[in-house]
Amino acid sequence: MSVVTKIALDCPYCHEAIYAALNWFKKPYFTCPACDKGLAAGQFATIIANLERSVEANIEEMINGAQHSSCCGNKSSCCSGSGN
Ligand SMILES: [Zn+2]
Repeated sequence: MSVVTKIALDCPYCHEAIYAALNWFKKPYFTCPACDKGLAAGQFATIIANLERSVEANIEEMINGAQHSSCCGNKSSCCSGSGN
């Protein structure tokens, strides 16, 4: 399963938000689309690592959630929220 996760990170130079696929930030070297300054994956490594951890947790949640085919399962927030 390939999931393309788009993230936005601030450029350390011009502080513009760079919105790109997570993998794009893992390239050894790339340039900021806004200011054209050179960036290295190492500058974002910590942020990327944290993001990946939370993304993986989300995906796991999605997979685990999908295994419960019924809408409500054991989550009361799903169907009982509407009405009385
Ligand atoms: Zn920049």
